[in-house]
Amino acid sequence: MNDGIRLHLNESPFPPPDFIIEEVKKYLHLGNRYQHPSLLERLRELMAEYNRVEPKNIYPTPGGDGALRAVFYNLIQTGDKVVINNPSYSMYKVYASVRGLKLTRVNLIENDNWWKMNFEKFLDEAKNARLVIIDDPNNPTGSPMLKAEEDKVRALAESINGFILIDEAYYEFSGYTVAKLINKYPNLLIVRTLSKAFSLASYRVGYLIGNEEVIKNLMKGATPFDISLPGYIAGITALENPSYVRKIVEEITKNREYLLNGLRKLGLKVYNSLTNFVFVKDERDLLSPLLNKGVAIRKPIIGYYRISVGTKEQVDALLKYLGEIIENSN
Ligand code: PMP
Repeated sequence: MNDGIRLHLNESPFPPPDFIIEEVKKYLHLGNRYQHPSLLERLRELMAEYNRVEPKNIYPTPGGDGALRAVFYNLIQTGDKVVINNPSYSMYKVYASVRGLKLTRVNLIENDNWWKMNFEKFLDEAKNARLVIIDDPNNPTGSPMLKAEEDKVRALAESINGFILIDEAYYEFSGYTVAKLINKYPNLLIVRTLSKAFSLASYRVGYLIGNEEVIKNLMKGATPFDISLPGYIAGITALENPSYVRKIVEEITKNREYLLNGLRKLGLKVYNSLTNFVFVKDERDLLSPLLNKGVAIRKPIIGYYRISVGTKEQVDALLKYLGEIIENSN
């Protein structure tokens, strides 16, 4: 499968480490069977340990998207009001639309080299909502939102007659989390994934962290088969040896700053980022000329691009092509 330089889906540019691939291989011959339920419990245990919470606070799901679907399909009703930031992760809109929910989007505010939440407006809208979702850091801007500030979490959790969902898909890059507040605010939920910093996107392993009661309800509908056997083995092996993630985060962080500098040198307006992608403001069409060179990036909104951080070589190739495209467009 040669699909060029993929900088459009916020994947890790690094393959899973060999020790995970070797472990997965040992189980491939069991592909004809349903996986043993004990794997679900083992994964829960390890996810709990990783976050210093209890297994009863964890609901393992097929990717972070599986965690989002669990919330959208089980915890809210058709017609309920949902509040999100604009922009934010594109699937929130999709799930809200499929479920027939009333969606309110609160615009982020551009603030020098970052974007920030319009917290007053968001809080006001949250008052009659059943669900508010904040991706923190935000996708596609890469900016921090609540940054785990307890005052703001409390204000939201106490004002809403429903759930506050913090999507921490990029937690390993940002380094902050609201996980320690989970038992203090029973309507607080957290989405996590092994798709990003753990380099396991195709294995589809994610989870929801939440209060015991909510998780218990969700677990009633869970089967041990939602996550594939390779997914379980990869997830369990990764969380038994999570130190490899540190190296990935270090490398991505270094490449991100290198990418941002390179983009600035090309005269592009860029924003700082706490994630594995960067947000760029530009009116020109960069998408198709880059695709012609075999490089995929994303245009989440008109006038803005989101570029995932690749390997040093990928970043160099992107900067070279972008330089040529910009020179030709002048
Ligand atoms: N939340 C956010 C904010 C994301 O950016 C993504 C993926 N791009 C996800 C959740 C879901 O990722 P996955 O299903 O691969 O875990």
